[in-house]
Amino acid sequence: MEKMLEYQRIDAGLRAIEQELLASEDRKKGISAKKFLDTVNDNLSALDRKAAEFDNAYTKYMEAYAKLAETQREFDDLDEYTSEDEINYMKKKAQELYDEFKRLEQSIAHLQEEIIALTEQYNTLKKKTASAQKQFKESGQKYTEFKASKADAQKEIQAQLAALEKEVDPKVLALYKEKRAEKMFPILFEYAGTGFCPNCRTEISKLSESNLAKNGIIVCDNCGRILYKGK
Ligand SMILES: [Zn+2]
Repeated sequence: MEKMLEYQRIDAGLRAIEQELLASEDRKKGISAKKFLDTVNDNLSALDRKAAEFDNAYTKYMEAYAKLAETQREFDDLDEYTSEDEINYMKKKAQELYDEFKRLEQSIAHLQEEIIALTEQYNTLKKKTASAQKQFKESGQKYTEFKASKADAQKEIQAQLAALEKEVDPKVLALYKEKRAEKMFPILFEYAGTGFCPNCRTEISKLSESNLAKNGIIVCDNCGRILYKGK
């Protein structure tokens, strides 16, 4: 187990570099820019659909408006209607027509406002996209450089680990690597027979203790750490 513990100590250096890379601001910036860029096409399609809807609505409103204007022309010659009833009827119709004009004009004005707002959204999205692309490129470049600056140190540690691998129990090593891949760290803990896992304080059963005596290691049921026998 001594060699395995040495392995973990050296591995801690590798993990520290990994953590440093993960914490890089440029990496985070790159990821957030990428996330934004991944949604841009969907957002653009949504805006395009809305623009098409507005375009349709606008055409319909304008057609209705033209129709109303045509109807209005039919009222121009009121002289033909002599009886008072007829005049009242036409007055009523003219008022209705006028109200409808007003409603339609309001709808058109409202639609025009929406189109302006949509255009603004579109322009904003375009600006944001350009800056996200710039950020993605710049931070990607910086992160690549940062990663490259750590490559030698990583390689050196990896070589040390590879050398040690020949001297450790392959079963423990395989288990260790499995847990390391799950981002668990540290993985190895000495169990001094206290009845509790030294990492998570979960109770260790008598059965587990006898397994430990038999096999030299056990895995904590709760936190998954590898526990080895203390001296
Ligand atoms: Zn535990």
